Amino acid sequence: MCERIYTNRKREAFMENERIWLSTPTMHGEEQVFIKEAFDTNWVAPLGKNVTEFENEMAHFVGVKAAAAMTAGTHALHLAVKLAGIKTDDIVICSDLTFAATVNPVSYENGTQVFVDSERDTWNMNPCALKIALEKYKDRVKAVVLVHLYGTPSKIDEIKALCDEYGVILIEDAAESLSATYKGKQTGSFGKYGAISFNGNKIITTSGGGMFLSDDEDAVQRVRFFSTQARESFPWYQHEEIGYNYRMSNIVAGIGRGQLLHIEEHRKLKENIYLRYKEGFKDLPVTMNPYEKCSVPNFWLSCMLINEDAMDNVNPEKIRLALEKENIEARPIWKPMHMQPVYKDNDFITNDDNVGEDIFRRGLCLPSDIKMTKAQQQKVIDIIKGLF
Ligand SMILES: *Cc1c(COP(=O)(O)O)cnc(C)c1O
Repeated sequence: MCERIYTNRKREAFMENERIWLSTPTMHGEEQVFIKEAFDTNWVAPLGKNVTEFENEMAHFVGVKAAAAMTAGTHALHLAVKLAGIKTDDIVICSDLTFAATVNPVSYENGTQVFVDSERDTWNMNPCALKIALEKYKDRVKAVVLVHLYGTPSKIDEIKALCDEYGVILIEDAAESLSATYKGKQTGSFGKYGAISFNGNKIITTSGGGMFLSDDEDAVQRVRFFSTQARESFPWYQHEEIGYNYRMSNIVAGIGRGQLLHIEEHRKLKENIYLRYKEGFKDLPVTMNPYEKCSVPNFWLSCMLINEDAMDNVNPEKIRLALEKENIEARPIWKPMHMQPVYKDNDFITNDDNVGEDIFRRGLCLPSDIKMTKAQQQKVIDIIKGLF
């Protein structure tokens, strides 16, 4: 009884004090149907039908031959780096403007990251800077890890052509960009290996999880092997290599199957949020995160960039704090990797005037939760307008 009253109070408090979030999970109900089936058949753990089906459905959706479900997108990236054969002192060229999870797996395999700056058309890896990096390290570079930041596809053709020219493996970090397309093809399907994430704030979520993608079915099989402790096929436990415990559970996969049914709906809602910001800011010295005409982003997060000449009056931190005061969550742009203390010794290549650093200084991620009402979004827009 006491507990019930407490729960009701908590709910009321939540309703009164409705926070506008950056991006939170949106569940629909089908998730529970798949979970229930797992319970009913006692396939609670470890693997089972939901895992197999989720992998098949996701491979089909992205347009790759096979997929392996992992406990995190980071784990999919780790095994991609491992399969690329990265060893001590090998160089992996990485996007600089990104979340640390894009680049940390290189260190797990004792490789060394070289960071490449962004361009201004998509905020992703600059192909010209990539060429400089490939030329500089051509004897040591084995792979490129390319992120599609905030759901905006990179200049994939140019980057893929350079990877082919220099004979390096392209790994796509499509953690933020699931359902975004480039020239009609899904991100995550361009690299030799691709990784997606179902972390809580991504466009679809399993509470936590990820997936490894590839057209190379043997590679996907290898990833399944490494993610289940590298157990050889003997009746006893035989190990000839070091493995990991990275495999997604059947319950978690059930959530994913339910979510996947709604991915296009999520993408469309995110796009509408982006368009409303764009319209709302049209008289301000502000632009939205840009994309190329040949691509369709998933608009995972809407981000604003303040024009240089307006930075004297208002800056991203001022906006963030003004929103926070109204219980609205906004977040700084990812801090570039070359500015991170942990990567202070790694090389950073730019052919321009430090684009990533500039975007970090002038940009801000805005609430992009698909449950946000139009009135709530208008409130966000009005607060921001009031600051200019
Ligand atoms: C979320 C994210 C990841 C990591 O995914 P997890 O599932 O949280 O491990 C990797 N790269 C980028 C760019 C991300 O945003």
